[in-house]
Amino acid sequence: MSYERFNIEQLDAYTPGEQPTAVDVVKLNTNENPYPPTDAVMQAIRQVTAESLRRYPSPRAATFRQTAAEVHGVTPDHILATNGGDELLRMAVTTFCQAYSYAPLLPGDRGGLGETLPTYSLYDVLAGIHNTPVVKVPLNADWSIAADFAEQLNDAGCRLALVVNPHAPSGRLETVDTLRAIARAFRGVLLIDEAYVNFAARDTVDLVRPGSDVDNVMLLRTMSKGYSLAGLRFGYAIGHPKLIAAMDKCRDSYNTDALAQAAATAALRSRDIAAQTWAKVIAERMRVTSELRRRGCEVPDSQSNFILAAVQGTPNAREMYQRLKDRNILVRYFDQERLRDKLRITIGTPAQNDALLAAWDQLTATRA
Ligand SMILES: *Cc1c(COP(=O)(O)O)cnc(C)c1O
Repeated sequence: MSYERFNIEQLDAYTPGEQPTAVDVVKLNTNENPYPPTDAVMQAIRQVTAESLRRYPSPRAATFRQTAAEVHGVTPDHILATNGGDELLRMAVTTFCQAYSYAPLLPGDRGGLGETLPTYSLYDVLAGIHNTPVVKVPLNADWSIAADFAEQLNDAGCRLALVVNPHAPSGRLETVDTLRAIARAFRGVLLIDEAYVNFAARDTVDLVRPGSDVDNVMLLRTMSKGYSLAGLRFGYAIGHPKLIAAMDKCRDSYNTDALAQAAATAALRSRDIAAQTWAKVIAERMRVTSELRRRGCEVPDSQSNFILAAVQGTPNAREMYQRLKDRNILVRYFDQERLRDKLRITIGTPAQNDALLAAWDQLTATRA
């Protein structure tokens, strides 16, 4: 007999991308920034004092929120600091979704989570932990969001919609107008997961600034990708103060630590330096995209720090993943509907990308 709740017993836990310990691996599988964090970040970490570690940190990361508010043109009430973007997602499901067994529901209200298919696989795990229903609306062939996305979620009584923009794993960027229309039509909270927004042509901050005509939108930001701080675990929400206040009730008492607060604040303040890495990644993204297209791969335009490449013929995508891995090059393969014939490849340094392209040529050389 097992002791855990039934939905936990039934749950398939999240599978993170591989994190090899060998140093000579060309690691293009988990969308990390290939460049180091800024000097200002490392300096801020070194300047953390023994006294500030002896004491509890600011519970709501006050200095960070003030900095983020200035950067985004909002007030600190619009900002919630979290232990990585993943904690923000967990808090959103806790705050806005109902569980099957306890929900005091109105007729037609199932209280659950709505998402696109495919999407970030953590979303389903969080729904499973919270025992909340999930509605998946397939993306169109060009990876755009279905025109009746909000309607389908309303019909299913969803309380929270999770949309990745730019989308993972396709890299497609939706327009602000499309997302505004979804927010207007949807009766629940729309959380736009902007984990990769630093590599995109535009963001959707206008939807959450004071004066916005929608009050049910929240954005997810993370220091993991654009700011080269995946190891730090720091993310934040930007949203209407009433949504932020609701989420704040579900926060662990000291959810971000003193070191992370100092580093994340320094990262935002030195964002002009970090932006130089974004420009390099974007230039390489365009180069790798056209190189793979030249080799006959279908690669949709990406506004992110990865691309999704369709692999035709032999070796197929799964074999290609394995043979690249045998050559110490790690990319991501998803054994999922619409993704089985594709590889998600993180954009690395020019040298890493060259290694990938050279291996690709070797592996496909025997194709007729
Ligand atoms: C990386 C990522 C996040 C957040 O990651 P953290 O490292 O927890 O900040 C959120 N959503 C998507 C789609 C991501 O790829």
